[in-house]
Amino acid sequence: MPASKSVTGTALSPENSVLTDLFDRTISYLRLSLTDRCNLKCLYCVPEEGGLPKLEQEDLLSYEELLRVVRAAVSMGMTKLRLTGGEPLVRRNVMDFVNQLAAIKQLRDIRITTNGVLLSRYAEDLRAAGISKINISLDSLQPERFARITGADCFAQVWQGIEKARSVGFAPVKLNMVVMRGVNDDELADFARLSRDTELHVRFIEFMPIGASSRWSKDTYVSSDEIKARLYDLGELIPVHRSETDGPASMFRLGAEAKGKLGFISPLSHHFCDRCNRLRLTSEGMLRACLLHDAETDLRAVLRRGCTDEEIRETLLAAVRSKPQGHRMEERLREQEGGCHGRMSRIGG
Ligand code: SAM
Repeated sequence: MPASKSVTGTALSPENSVLTDLFDRTISYLRLSLTDRCNLKCLYCVPEEGGLPKLEQEDLLSYEELLRVVRAAVSMGMTKLRLTGGEPLVRRNVMDFVNQLAAIKQLRDIRITTNGVLLSRYAEDLRAAGISKINISLDSLQPERFARITGADCFAQVWQGIEKARSVGFAPVKLNMVVMRGVNDDELADFARLSRDTELHVRFIEFMPIGASSRWSKDTYVSSDEIKARLYDLGELIPVHRSETDGPASMFRLGAEAKGKLGFISPLSHHFCDRCNRLRLTSEGMLRACLLHDAETDLRAVLRRGCTDEEIRETLLAAVRSKPQGHRMEERLREQEGGCHGRMSRIGG
């Protein structure tokens, strides 16, 4: 812990954050996986041979433990938080937790990533609690295909959730589509048109080799450059100035009249490791400094041996200091070192 910067008591802004890694990146964005459980079984999360063993309730960090961690992180300069999972909205009493998070003053920005299945029920409360942005994962606009990808016939319910989120004032509502060749890549134009004809923001995400069970292969992977080339005939992609809410996506409008935006998230072909500001906390309480590296720091063990807040801060800092310079996934794949074995349902994407 640098002696010149006290982290006790006062909250720090990102400008004087103590959460700086060895490559001079300031880590200001914490992603919490609230549960490994999900009401969908998306084919990139669930192994071909079937279900994954679920964590027991006591394996998950409790809301009290999570709040302690978030308060400690905020006191070190963390300002942005994302709730993910599994499906964050299936965790019991999730709104009580969200309301307690929202009461943490220095936490400027709380967001959620959801599959949208329960959004009709929760959108209003999430908005009232002060959640600033919603990302919804949507990998197909075709109800039957949606059911095949997710294992649940609930496209209409998700679409209602999207509409509800818009109607209660979330703007923009972002849709994330993982592009998989032979699975949904024939819908690129339909998704792009959606971003032109509505205020929805659509972001194409490159499929990543995560999880021993992932169906990722060089054949299913489609690069952002290829996606752009395939949209060429639809109209001009006009670059838009990146706003703070765009994250790692490069953003465009499909034609000058487009109502929404179109984004490309390219973790493999144009990785953004040099400006990565993220730390992840998995649903079983492991700090993960890089999505695509399996090294984790066991924060749950620290919490459960009755630690002080200072020890939480030290553990957060140690995890930040262990952050690799980059994921090197292209080289790892080239040299057949393999992908990464973490489970997205526990890490949270
Ligand atoms: N249940 C929530 C949802 O569906 O948005 C949050 C968790 S889910 C793991 C978060 C998102 O991670 C997925 O919808 C998908 O966009 C992304 N994701 C999962 N596996 C991926 C992979 N192999 N490559 C790229 N993105 C992936």
